[in-house]
Amino acid sequence: MRIYLDNSATTFTDPEVLEEMLPYFTEVYGNGSSQHFFGRDALKAIDNAREKVARAINCKPNEIYFTSGGTESDNWAIKGIARAHRKKGKHIITSVIEHPAVIKTCEALEREGFEVTYVKVDGEGFVSPADIEAAIREDTILISIMTANNEMGTIQPIREIGAIAKAHRIPFHTDAVQAIGNVPIDVVADNIDMLSMSAHKFYGPKGVGVLYKRNGIKIDRFMDGGEQERNMRASTLNTPGIVGLGKAIEMAVADMDKHNAHIASLRDEFVRQVTERIPEVKLNGAKDFSKRLASNANFSFKYIEGESILMRLDLAGIAVSSGSACSSGSLEPSYVLLSLGVPIELAHGSIRFSFGKNNTMEEVNYTVDKLEETVRFLRELSPLFKFVQGEQKYV
Ligand SMILES: *Cc1c(COP(=O)(O)O)cnc(C)c1O
Repeated sequence: MRIYLDNSATTFTDPEVLEEMLPYFTEVYGNGSSQHFFGRDALKAIDNAREKVARAINCKPNEIYFTSGGTESDNWAIKGIARAHRKKGKHIITSVIEHPAVIKTCEALEREGFEVTYVKVDGEGFVSPADIEAAIREDTILISIMTANNEMGTIQPIREIGAIAKAHRIPFHTDAVQAIGNVPIDVVADNIDMLSMSAHKFYGPKGVGVLYKRNGIKIDRFMDGGEQERNMRASTLNTPGIVGLGKAIEMAVADMDKHNAHIASLRDEFVRQVTERIPEVKLNGAKDFSKRLASNANFSFKYIEGESILMRLDLAGIAVSSGSACSSGSLEPSYVLLSLGVPIELAHGSIRFSFGKNNTMEEVNYTVDKLEETVRFLRELSPLFKFVQGEQKYV
């Protein structure tokens, strides 16, 4: 048995997406910048993908810039604004629960003399628009708040935050890597000036992403070299990847409601069974599931370590994430959970289960069986648990 419940880390490439990509490795392999027919054919495919992305988020095709993924798009949006607007101001607003691609980029800018306000979140992981507004200064040049959080799936009120940014004439960037294909996005209605996405989070290939940038928003070019992407991002375009991203976003948007209904039914049943069958668990993140990714269940299991749960589930053929999923392998508790006010011992015992379109109810049932067994086994070994149960006098 091999069960994949780590769809927030990455998804499989859909076979239909792969099929669409294949000719662009072997047949239509021209350089999109070349002036002969090999190049023109590649360029045609790239422009076709550009149009699909634009349609999916309601922008113009010339507001789409292809990148190598979510991390690059985040780096480019934030550093690009900082470099282009440094004469105007040095202040950036973001939140404490952003992905490392945003947090570390902001920290790098702080070392260059920029000032960053990391707005706090409430106990369910929500950023308050009022807190964003209160953080605005004369010299604020950027607000960057993620659409949906990768650890808890909390969906932020980005339309309201975007409206505040707009009223103050401050560019608004959102890391929508977790949201694309799961949450409807309209960059016009949602007041978004820049948006990051990554194909491998919505059943596309790895190593390709998009930065959407509204025309009129000034940012510096990201890489020096050729004149690709309207002279804003050098390097030969990744034609197969871009074709795959285009197909993947088209499918993701077309099937969003269908997939969300299926995925939410799995997640809801999983949450119901875990809460009923396993004592002393806490569901982290939004309680109102309409403000949470349909795919996400994040639980803390008292008295035991997330890493131990993960390892035993791994042996049982179930793939999940623990703690700060993006620094997996480190034993640091999740900074996201700690910022919600989750006590450190509970943050240590947290696991993210993220469901995808190919998961089944049988997999849910099997996973809860194994999880119940695992938690019981680990608690029997836990001195803390025995102490609390009164079976042991000292920890
Ligand atoms: C995965 C992820 C990223 C990084 O995207 P890559 O394409 O892997 O570089 C950035 N932000 C969020 C919220 C993510 O989930």
